[in-house]
Amino acid sequence: MSLLGTMMLNLSQPIVAQTENENENITIHNYYTSPPFEEIYYYAIETEEGLILIDTGRLLSQARYALDELQQFDKPILAILITHPHTDHFGGLPVFVKAAGEDVPIYASEITLESIENDERGYIENRNEQLGLDFPDSEEIPLPDFIVEDGQQLNIGGVNIIAYDFPTNESDTTTIYYLPEQQVMFVGDLVNGEKTPGLFEGNTSNWLTTLRSIQQRFPDLERIYPGHTEPDNPDELITTQIDYIETFRNLVSQVLENDDVVDDVERRNIADEIEELYPDYETSLLLPGLIEINIDGVAEELQAEGN
Ligand SMILES: [Zn+2]
Repeated sequence: MSLLGTMMLNLSQPIVAQTENENENITIHNYYTSPPFEEIYYYAIETEEGLILIDTGRLLSQARYALDELQQFDKPILAILITHPHTDHFGGLPVFVKAAGEDVPIYASEITLESIENDERGYIENRNEQLGLDFPDSEEIPLPDFIVEDGQQLNIGGVNIIAYDFPTNESDTTTIYYLPEQQVMFVGDLVNGEKTPGLFEGNTSNWLTTLRSIQQRFPDLERIYPGHTEPDNPDELITTQIDYIETFRNLVSQVLENDDVVDDVERRNIADEIEELYPDYETSLLLPGLIEINIDGVAEELQAEGN
């Protein structure tokens, strides 16, 4: 708690906003929430009519910084699009909805809505305990009210956006938002670059399927906008993510081959090996022990697969 208290004091660093992509009458602004906690990237699509926000970050304090940055454009917030039901993607909702007005539509899939509403995994409760007033209570979080179906075409502020829902991968579902005219895509945390991904929900097999499906279905895609790392070329980001997940699964699988359990020593060994293979990978300070937690999640998944 004292460590967290110290970090709180350092939270005065502003969010950096940069213009990421200008084409086809839109500008994509990229917001990067600063360490010490973690890096979260979220985005605003600027059109002539206003701003379309993609995800909201986790902390209320950082959402307020982001809002300050957005206000320089002097345009209304037209909509908020949520990619998936993890707290670092919807925790800032109260701040943006207050600024945009109660009527601002919040887009998400049915699975995302249910997951935020029911909090069966206890994520909201955990963050309330960990972050206190810097994370909203359940009843303070505005719920998505525009439910998108897989493949649904949207037109917001003159921009064509297609929502595709990919259930059970990094989270209970990832709704990607694809802009066909610009050939760009917002993918939540399906790709993470050199950040330790969260594999602990134990859906890595389907996550790999999702990534390969995106590669096949969108061959002309020019740019991917991820949740925790800089926007980049799709092939690079997707290949990097597939490699990490496959390597991780293989290491856990090898240990399970002996006696179908991962004991403490084996867990430490796998974590050491991962750290050696991916020395530059960073992990959010809010998720201590993430690699070990990932090992247990993947082990459970592989056991269920009958490994
Ligand atoms: Zn995230």
